[in-house]
Amino acid sequence: MPSHPIIITLDGWSSCGKSTLAKALAKELGYVFVDSGAMYRAVTLYFLRRGVDLSSSEQVQKALAEIELGFVFNPARGASDIVLNGENVEPLIREMQVAEQVSKVAALASVRKFAVQQQQRMGAAKGIVMDGRDIGTVVFPGAELKIFMTADKETRVQRRYLELSAKDPTISIEAVRENLERRDHMDATREESPLRQAHDAKVLDNTSLTPTEQLHIALGWARAAIG
Ligand code: C5P
Repeated sequence: MPSHPIIITLDGWSSCGKSTLAKALAKELGYVFVDSGAMYRAVTLYFLRRGVDLSSSEQVQKALAEIELGFVFNPARGASDIVLNGENVEPLIREMQVAEQVSKVAALASVRKFAVQQQQRMGAAKGIVMDGRDIGTVVFPGAELKIFMTADKETRVQRRYLELSAKDPTISIEAVRENLERRDHMDATREESPLRQAHDAKVLDNTSLTPTEQLHIALGWARAAIG
């Protein structure tokens, strides 16, 4: 009997490898992978370019109405790049200017509504792995498999520093640590859809796991859930 596609959610702290695992899991299962953080980052990039005042709901609403987000598969990365109004902005959304503002933008109720509606549409046919902060709690509370990822903070700082300094050697580890701590704090304490572990999530601490080991664990859970 053919198995039914399911929804797999991966939530957790900043830089704990959610996207790496989500991408690998989707590839193994032949599922679609969606990086929901890229959507909040692309909205933030647009707001920065337009100088949108976050305290003005009018300006925020107007800017959101101008935004169209999409994804295009990038074979070199084996994942989809985010497209903002027809422009592939994948490399730009990873820059520090965006990282510094994204948690403020993502705390706005109107921005979350805008992103969540699109995320739910993308998951309507199931067969999807989506990573983020509120995917198992708000976007797909009925998901068949929910994973909550965590890792020791210094390990996460080191990983993100290695990733960012490869592209920008002027970046300091202190700046990376400060950004990570601030985002974690803002994401977990905001009023709208704060980062929470869903009560029915499986916890995966990957501090001392290799990408292959974490994939093996998650695949076991996924296959059990798919049946
Ligand atoms: O996953 P990533 O670190 O790229 O996400 C960037 C930011 O987007 C997070 O720090 C968080 O503020 C926001 N985000 C969110 N909800 C999601 C995914 C990301 O609020 N589902």
